[in-house]
Amino acid sequence: MSARKKYAIKTSCPQCGCSAVSHLSHEEMMERFGNVPNVELDCGACMAKVNAPMALACPEWDQECKAKAGK
Ligand SMILES: [Zn+2]
Repeated sequence: MSARKKYAIKTSCPQCGCSAVSHLSHEEMMERFGNVPNVELDCGACMAKVNAPMALACPEWDQECKAKAGK
């Protein structure tokens, strides 16, 4: 499996416009997001809540969740 793989989650804040990339391991992804369809993070700059569809924020993770949920 890909336990050591890092997933890049890209978000951009609707409030201040800054974008951020978080790198999380598979374990961290499971812990923080699991199979949720939407990512929710706090903007590091203005502390606003940033919501993004997982498919946009981290297509790789989205694919993997779908692959697992699929069959
Ligand atoms: Zn912000």
